[in-house]
Amino acid sequence: MWEYAPAPESRDIANLRPSYRMFLDGEFVEGGGEPLKTVNPATEEVLAEVSTANSSDVDKAVKAARRAHERVWGRMPGAERAKYIFRIARMIAERARELAVLESLDNGKPIRESRDVDVPTASAHFFYHAGWADKLGYAGLGPDPRPLGVAGQVIPWNFPLLMAAWKIAPALACGNTVVLKPAETTPLTALVLAEIVQQADLPPGVVNILPGAGDVGAELVGHAGVDKVAFTGSTDVGKIIQRTVAGTGKKLTLELGGKAANVVFDDAPLDQAVEGIVNGIFFNQGHVCCAGSRLLVQESVADELLAKLHARVSTLRVGDPLDKNTDVGAINSREQLDKITSLVESGEAEGAQRWTSPCPLPEKGFFFAPTVFAGVSQAMRIAREEIFGPVLSVLTFRTPDEAVAKANNTPYGLSAGIWTDKGSRILWMADRLRAGVVWANTFNRFDPTAPFGGYQESGFGREGGRAGLEAYLDV
Ligand code: NAD
Repeated sequence: MWEYAPAPESRDIANLRPSYRMFLDGEFVEGGGEPLKTVNPATEEVLAEVSTANSSDVDKAVKAARRAHERVWGRMPGAERAKYIFRIARMIAERARELAVLESLDNGKPIRESRDVDVPTASAHFFYHAGWADKLGYAGLGPDPRPLGVAGQVIPWNFPLLMAAWKIAPALACGNTVVLKPAETTPLTALVLAEIVQQADLPPGVVNILPGAGDVGAELVGHAGVDKVAFTGSTDVGKIIQRTVAGTGKKLTLELGGKAANVVFDDAPLDQAVEGIVNGIFFNQGHVCCAGSRLLVQESVADELLAKLHARVSTLRVGDPLDKNTDVGAINSREQLDKITSLVESGEAEGAQRWTSPCPLPEKGFFFAPTVFAGVSQAMRIAREEIFGPVLSVLTFRTPDEAVAKANNTPYGLSAGIWTDKGSRILWMADRLRAGVVWANTFNRFDPTAPFGGYQESGFGREGGRAGLEAYLDV
């Protein structure tokens, strides 16, 4: 057991300030809501006080976005918009170190991930979409695609900067203006992105960032001046939003939860598969909508694979998110930690065999040791519900048909993984798996050129790629 205290200079690298204001109509202003305190989940210390919006701020932001759309952004030639978006992409890359440290402080994710995945992928999304801004007429969506108007966007806490980039970049490229609400536990990098937007000289009102809790999100998606709602978050809240938007004529895309199957056949290169399984479930503490949270392994190699997996997971280091050697950081909040704990208890109560990594955990902060359940049956809660933590449920199968049936036995359908040496089997499986993304002999690979999104209760609409533009255009 050890006590963790972050190096004092991390606050300087992250340019952490005691308070942050919201970004409305090109200015940083105090919101009318009750300020929130954002906490470092690795130490439980308050990082900063953040101003939040009330309903009048939401109204002002939507009106500012409407003005900006009608007067400037919606009329601007795509090549001009591209220049601004390229500038944002470059400025994110220039401030990469600051953003990565700030993200790890606010979210708890290992610095290696915020440095190598979150921040560069966020920048890549702006680069990619800047490239589309003057080519929308050639995207195969019709000769003269038009922006929708004002986009109201609500995002979760697991990839705070990256989710903001996924939402804002395509909206801007297509000529829409934006009001975005970041998650209440991780507002900081979105507010630094707002600074970048301001410094990149975007006209006032084109991007507005309003921190707050779910009530601010509800106010935003329900506002009559919003033309398009884009939501990433839980399936429960997605369903509420779907009901709010029903009958209003607003366009809607939903990126919701998942319970992905990672399917390992007996001919798979097992050591490589173990790396993919570990990445699939322990990357970002398992706070990943497309996490490979159900391992389906062919019975004949199950014991061998499980032994290799335990050995590999035992080497993972859990702790200080700012230490470059850390593999698994902090759980984002006490609430999430409690949710993970209670689902793990349900797995034990329902008779699954729990194995917990022997790694030591810091005494302070929200940490959870990597956990693997064997002997899981499909009816158990740990096989059906999204845990959104570093917990893997292992099931077995005998035939490819059984693998498909078990993989598809979920109300979700966001992603899946296949591990096999046979190319023909990859194609056969990919054809039958009901999942928006299917990885073969790899997992959790993201690229702005590839459309991402779900089936069934994982939502609808795609983000990224040419398909992602459709959500922000009328043809
Ligand atoms: P959440 O649904 O609790 O919150 C998401 C966002 O919605 C937050 O900003 C929250 O303040 C806001 N919100 C809450 N109630 C609202 C309401 N009634 N109206 C409007 N907004 C409201 O989800 P979370 O716990 O922050 O995030 C985890 C969930 O997000 C997981 O289920 C995960 O799978 C999902 N997720 C999905 C994707 C994807 O691309 N499919 C990506 C990341 C996360």
